[in-house]
Amino acid sequence: MTDTVLIVGAGPVGLTMALELARYQVPVRLIDKMTKRGDTSRAIAIWPRTLELLNRAGASAELIALGNKVTAANIIAGSEPMARVQFDDVDTPYPFALMLPQSDTEAVLERHLERFSAPSELGVELITFTQDADGVTATLRHADGRVEAEKFGWLIACDGSHSPIRHSLGLSFEGGTMGTDWALGDFHMTGSPYPLNELFTYWHEDGPLIFFPMAPGRYRIIASLAPSNGAMPVPPSPEAFQAIVDRRGSRNIVLGDAVWTSTFRINERQISTYRAGRVFLAGDAAHVHSPAGGQGMNTGMQDAINLAWKLAMVCRGLSANPSLLDSYDTERRPVGAEVIATAGRLTKIATIHNPIAQHIRNVVAHFALGLSPVQQALKGSMTEISIGYHDSPLNDTASGNSQAGKRMRPLDDEIPYGAGDAPRFTLRAGRASGEPTPALRSDLVDPAIRPAAHGAGIELVRPDGYLAVSAAARDWASIETYLDRLAKGSRPRPHDAALRHAG
Ligand SMILES: Cc1cc2nc3c(=O)[nH]c(=O)nc-3n(C[C@H](O)[C@H](O)[C@H](O)COP(=O)(O)OP(=O)(O)OC[C@H]3O[C@@H](n4cnc5c(N)ncnc54)[C@H](O)[C@@H]3O)c2cc1C
Repeated sequence: MTDTVLIVGAGPVGLTMALELARYQVPVRLIDKMTKRGDTSRAIAIWPRTLELLNRAGASAELIALGNKVTAANIIAGSEPMARVQFDDVDTPYPFALMLPQSDTEAVLERHLERFSAPSELGVELITFTQDADGVTATLRHADGRVEAEKFGWLIACDGSHSPIRHSLGLSFEGGTMGTDWALGDFHMTGSPYPLNELFTYWHEDGPLIFFPMAPGRYRIIASLAPSNGAMPVPPSPEAFQAIVDRRGSRNIVLGDAVWTSTFRINERQISTYRAGRVFLAGDAAHVHSPAGGQGMNTGMQDAINLAWKLAMVCRGLSANPSLLDSYDTERRPVGAEVIATAGRLTKIATIHNPIAQHIRNVVAHFALGLSPVQQALKGSMTEISIGYHDSPLNDTASGNSQAGKRMRPLDDEIPYGAGDAPRFTLRAGRASGEPTPALRSDLVDPAIRPAAHGAGIELVRPDGYLAVSAAARDWASIETYLDRLAKGSRPRPHDAALRHAG
């Protein structure tokens, strides 16, 4: 039996998964059948919560140095401003959306992975796999035709929306396809009505037109086309893009050279379970949705971060019960479902075609999006800082703890972790709490105690920065009880019954 983890797919999600496991000193192999990385921009938005989480592997500073910080999003209907959402007052060390081509994001993650001597292996394809109670046996084919079979402890499918692993497991990918075709283009551009740090959307009777500022004079443009009808359309010519911009946007905007153009259709689908025995699915392999809101890649990376510490605790034989792994599905599937629902709603609102309904939408949006609670809700969901695991089986419910599962803001002096990290819970405590009891020493908890953000009580924070327990001052017993429960495992392992062969 080996605890080496095989990660299939070295896109942003597979890279994040490998980086997290490698810094927790779990042996990994990250393979991808592509022989060369793509150089197109694809996902260009990285949201604050993702930056908070990637900072623990030391990757955020380099990403930020390469990207463009966007601090506001505007919606315009005709020539009338409808709404403005600002990110610069969000309570995070990263109060902005970072615009960075996916190819650059992948290059940064790859460089960080190399620090842990675990680079991705390109030109290696997973052909088949079988699993049993001890592990997963995978057959891999190299680009030169060489075939190898190896046994791994676990298999993680980061193999994208067409996931061969999902197909092998026979897992359904429920959902459908939205009925409109879309065009996107990365253009050199002049005449933007907004500064470089603001993105803007036009709601027009023909459909929406969105501008993402990527770098000085360079923008990602997305526009809806006609209703889907048969084959995927070819991307519009630069002249056709300019005509769309003139009609739906502003005649002051002048498009220059196109760096990349493409068309796409929106699928909204989610897998029925994120775990099948020793196989986990993450990223586009588990959920796909509208790019409205730019959450796809971010959601996948956060899947990886949620799973990595749990798997690391189990692989390293720390005193956490393996049933901990079941919480990956319990926690991340509802998040995926919510992202699909929200992105779908935003897309439907933006693509309303009936002129009367458009008028009503504009009036309602102008009013509602000016309300502070609506603004806060929108900010929380776009920046992903409102994501939490409030119904998680990992939450301490014994002490009537209603805050458990919430995101914990990183501490201002938090430094990135490095090689040799263990996946550990951290303690934050007020002065009045004194020292922890000797019985609390556990290989699951970092011995250093940080100051509590609120009051004098004790907070136990998960390795992925969510609150596990909030206890009263000096109530170290609640923390002990929680860790004891984690070691014993309080729930059955439904996925064990789902172990089966695939390939
Ligand atoms: C045009 C476009 C714009 C987008 N814009 C945004 C945006 O603004 N914000 C956002 O968050 N998201 C956006 N997305 C979505 C984003 O690109 C995806 O969510 C993201 O790439 C998913 O990452 P992933 O790692 O899960 O999968 P992928 O990036 O698809 O990677 C899967 C990898 O698995 C490999 N693979 C498959 N099968 C095998 C096998 N058998 N053996 C070995 N390797 C295999 C593939 O070669 C591939 O490299 C956009 C997508 C597109 C297409």
